[in-house]
Amino acid sequence: MSPTHVVVLGSGFAGLETAFSLRALANPDRVQLSVVSDRDDFLFRPNSIYLPFGAAEAPLHVPLGTALRRREIASHIATAEGIDTERGVVRTSRGPVPYDKLVIATGAAMRPEEVPGLAEHAHTVWSPGRLHALGEQLQWVVQHAAHGRLQRVLFLVPPGNKCAGPLYEIALMLDTWLRRRDVRDNVQLAFTTSEQNYVQAFGPKLHDVVATEFSTRGIDGRTGAVPDKVRELEVAYTDGTTQEFDLLVAFPPYVAAQRFEGLPADDRGFLTCVPSTREVVGCPDVYAPGDAGDFPVKQAFLALLQAQAVAGQIAADVGAHLPGTGFEPVSMCVLEMFDKATFAQVPLSVTGDPVRPVVVDPEALDAYRVGTSAAWRLGKKALGTYVPGRFRAGLPVHAGAGWDTMALGLRGATRWLAR
Ligand SMILES: Cc1cc2nc3c(=O)[nH]c(=O)nc-3n(C[C@H](O)[C@H](O)[C@H](O)COP(=O)(O)OP(=O)(O)OC[C@H]3O[C@@H](n4cnc5c(N)ncnc54)[C@H](O)[C@@H]3O)c2cc1C
Repeated sequence: MSPTHVVVLGSGFAGLETAFSLRALANPDRVQLSVVSDRDDFLFRPNSIYLPFGAAEAPLHVPLGTALRRREIASHIATAEGIDTERGVVRTSRGPVPYDKLVIATGAAMRPEEVPGLAEHAHTVWSPGRLHALGEQLQWVVQHAAHGRLQRVLFLVPPGNKCAGPLYEIALMLDTWLRRRDVRDNVQLAFTTSEQNYVQAFGPKLHDVVATEFSTRGIDGRTGAVPDKVRELEVAYTDGTTQEFDLLVAFPPYVAAQRFEGLPADDRGFLTCVPSTREVVGCPDVYAPGDAGDFPVKQAFLALLQAQAVAGQIAADVGAHLPGTGFEPVSMCVLEMFDKATFAQVPLSVTGDPVRPVVVDPEALDAYRVGTSAAWRLGKKALGTYVPGRFRAGLPVHAGAGWDTMALGLRGATRWLAR
């Protein structure tokens, strides 16, 4: 029998975890693997929050050529532009790529234009380039504040953003960073979010942590604040209020990085998936793990879990593995603040309510844990070394002795440092 050709679109968390997990589960005689991506590296986005504060960008990029070759995975540097599910072919900028099974892991993109004026007047959090540009502005804030000129920095989460955590991190890190430069007294920090609670997806415990931090640090926070339009130096909200700023930092609304005509998707282009398998509804043999799919929270940790479910499913289909349990959405995140960090482990349940699309799973409250400590900063550092290292070696994140050690450490730390 000829091997099943599995084509993976995208070389981010979801694409690489699917490809490397599948290779670990199925030999080349069972599964022929190809990755089609518009870039030849992996970008470790979570640590890009350090860029505005002067961190180097190079360690965030992992070249993939050697890792893919070592795992006998063909690499096509091309943009996927369309899919013919009838014929089993992906149309790319470099010609057609046929598949037996397809994994769409092309991730998300930003659409700041949804809020009039946002693209023109805000610094946005997304790509390394934009985060470097924010860093330059922060240097100006320090300069002005050091000369006694009051600076107003406003952070903004509009509706449609699917991963607000990094913006909270940057706000809290900025507070610590300004204090260490002795200019905090001359900088007003404010944070307005359209969410009902701070970091809404992660439940009431994380809201309480952020509310306490904002109050202790003198950050003026407001929830339920929906921006209507952004003008030069001012945001107008739908409730008639306004807020002035010298520097506006926003995490824009999300859309799919690539829309695929003919596949079922929501109005933002996120592909409609069977919840536990991440198979695209009505398209057998097509899967969409990670940000490209319709899971309401977009996060690297969740992308990895979805990718494992997809790899397990495909491996079982080709007879190389027993069926797995599928995707169980238990999120984990570490919220950096520079002087400490907060860890959250959150079992999630999807509600179908657009205002509150996920809640903490009421059936798994024991697993809902949040803790704040300087020690959690080490956890963030360890992940920032471990994950890129695994992909550099052509190995899945959630497997092997390295992950067993990480998981053991996490379990222990969660027991002692989170409740
Ligand atoms: C500043 C910031 C900080 C973050 N911090 C965290 C964190 O601490 N923890 C966490 O869990 N999550 C974090 N996230 C979210 C996390 O980065 C994403 O959820 C994660 O990257 C999603 O993985 P993915 O593989 O689905 O998509 P991506 O990582 O975006 O990968 C998509 C891949 O597809 C490729 N691609 C896109 N379009 C095409 C196309 N048409 N053809 C071919 N290839 C294409 C891209 O080049 C890329 O290789 C953060 C996000 C940001 C912006």
